[in-house]
Amino acid sequence: MKTRAAVIYGVNEEWQIKDVELDGPKAGEVLVKSHAAGLCHSDEHIVTGDLGSADPENSIFPCIGGHEGSGVVMEVGDGVTDFEVGDHVAVSFVPACGKCRWCASGMQNLCDQGAGTMGRGMITDGRSAHTGPDGEEIYCMAKLGTFAEHMLVGEDSLVKVDKDLPLVPVALVSCGVATGYGSAVNRAEVKAGDTVVVVGCGGIGSNALQGARVAGAKNIVAVDLAEFKREKAVEFGATHTAASMEEAMELVGGLTEGVMADKVILAPGVVTGDLIAPAQFLTRKGGTIVVTGLAPMMQMDVQLNLFEFAMMNKEIKGTIFGSDSPRRAVPRLLSMYQAGQLKLDELVTETYTLDEINQGYQDMRDDKNIRGVIVFD
Ligand SMILES: [Zn+2]
Ligand SMILES: [Zn+2]
Repeated sequence: MKTRAAVIYGVNEEWQIKDVELDGPKAGEVLVKSHAAGLCHSDEHIVTGDLGSADPENSIFPCIGGHEGSGVVMEVGDGVTDFEVGDHVAVSFVPACGKCRWCASGMQNLCDQGAGTMGRGMITDGRSAHTGPDGEEIYCMAKLGTFAEHMLVGEDSLVKVDKDLPLVPVALVSCGVATGYGSAVNRAEVKAGDTVVVVGCGGIGSNALQGARVAGAKNIVAVDLAEFKREKAVEFGATHTAASMEEAMELVGGLTEGVMADKVILAPGVVTGDLIAPAQFLTRKGGTIVVTGLAPMMQMDVQLNLFEFAMMNKEIKGTIFGSDSPRRAVPRLLSMYQAGQLKLDELVTETYTLDEINQGYQDMRDDKNIRGVIVFD
């Protein structure tokens, strides 16, 4: 069949809307009609070249973007028993096979299938199932490609959700909400009474703020250069705001009588090595820094005062998918939304058509959006 998709052909190019020929679902595959796709910063990392193999033999270009999304099942391939036509689904940029060592240990966010998620071909049999108008093979971001009217994905990359849930919040939960919320609750293990600093208050950081709020943190300090995001941060749970980490240093010192923050969560659009030392000094003795945002793949240098780090018994943790299992986190977060504990509608600053995708990403670069969302017909 044919579908329309936003495809990127190389670093620093614009998204192009193309008619793409799509295989029907083979064994273990599901065809999904897209409903909504979030404009997450991680797709911008493909545009800038920070994400994806530098080796031309393994380059992900040309690529249908998008890894945050929701839709309705249209057709299933042989052997698919967990989904049927008409099911509502969230995608998961981390597939969960349920069988590997990590899945079997309750760590689906580390599923072995995730290792190849930025590579070429279908997750099921490795074939290329998408062809562009000039006969070119096209690959998919995170084996998903949510910036398309239809998605052909492996069943392990989907999570079924209740049909009475609106599909825009379902899309948001599939990356930004789960990642941000889990950074605070699961990885930083925020406790009641904690002082928490969240650096970067976009689609991920806003949900780290919500996680800290739900976990009962006393002081929640939102750090963002953009005034609009600092204002929104208060809506999501921030008790204080600062325009820079330097400004936060003085603020947190005052709030804690010099003890500093129990937890610091780094969720800017791009994490760079020079953010680690200021995060270290924002963190109290024995405190925790969680690195949530994506850094350029080849980034190796980090500024860290190793003496202070060891002597003050601090820790730095990485996290993916909020350190939770997609099949556990997605329904759980949506049920919290239904109960009024999580704000998801408020995350959507602007909606776009597929054809407006470049405007959507420009608005993200201009700090106008917490989350821009493509909504399909
Ligand atoms: Zn994302
Ligand atoms: Zn697995």
